[in-house]
Amino acid sequence: MALLTVGSVAFDAIETPFGKTDKIIGGAGTYIALSASYFTADQKIVSVVGEDFPKETLDDLTNRGISIEGIQIKKGEKTFFWSGKYHNDMNSRDTLVTELNVLEKFDPVIPERYQGVDFLMLGNLAPAVQRQVIERLKTRPKLIAMDTMNFWMDIAWNDLMETIKLVDVLIINDEEARQMSKEYSLVKAAKKIMSFGPKYLIIKKGEHGALLFGPNKVFFAPALPLEEVFDPTGAGDTFAGGFIGFLARTGDVSFENMKRAVIAGSAMASFCVEKFGTERLMNLHEEEITNRIMDFRSLVDYQMEKVI
Ligand code: AMP
Repeated sequence: MALLTVGSVAFDAIETPFGKTDKIIGGAGTYIALSASYFTADQKIVSVVGEDFPKETLDDLTNRGISIEGIQIKKGEKTFFWSGKYHNDMNSRDTLVTELNVLEKFDPVIPERYQGVDFLMLGNLAPAVQRQVIERLKTRPKLIAMDTMNFWMDIAWNDLMETIKLVDVLIINDEEARQMSKEYSLVKAAKKIMSFGPKYLIIKKGEHGALLFGPNKVFFAPALPLEEVFDPTGAGDTFAGGFIGFLARTGDVSFENMKRAVIAGSAMASFCVEKFGTERLMNLHEEEITNRIMDFRSLVDYQMEKVI
């Protein structure tokens, strides 16, 4: 089924305890699209870049079957640039630079051919822009998922509340869930956030996995214990891409299928962190993905007789 992905297509510069990159390709939209492309052949993207963005990268997206008609290329302007530095634990990072550039006045244009999509993934962007996309779709997709971050809670709370009312699945991390709900317990936080609108909530806990909440239901997916984590940038977006890509592939939006989608997302995120930037996501094989999904199964699969 057709998937529309909206998100930043960007340049990033990343520093981790293992090394440092110059400007490389990044952006939440890029990570989501690459990840989802392994699951669905019918993906369209809406974004904006400057004249400085490499044509080869856009061609690369096209070659993966992603329609880039909705990526505006702004003459004489610069692409969004983000730079971050990870601490030694690799779980926390400082944002060093955010140059909005073309994102500052981003007015998402939905090409006519994009109308009628079944799934919509709203990557982390200003909530007002995310809402514009929903409003500009003539028919409501079967499922709308959305990512956001603490930055928008700080500066655009009302807009954010307006937008999350309109989505089915909200995907955030534990820190963001606590900030949004003002609750420490993630179970209480989930109840409160779901009362704001979304029927489903995914709370990512980094190397500790992810929780999926639905009406009176909860599911936990672990993260794969990895020997080496080089760069966590984009792991959250890659998770979202795997999740929505799996749903678009199967067309089934039941809670049972969302559990599988959470595992698919977790598997994709586990690849993302193994190399810098988007490198690992560029040339995965289907077999590797299947094997990794199976690794998740064996990680939590056990039999136990009555012991007491
Ligand atoms: P993550 O590691 O999942 O938080 O995602 C990192 C990606 O998000 C990077 O590739 C950045 O280019 C992108 N990014 C960071 N800040 C923003 C922002 N304010 N708006 C849109 N994209 C962003």
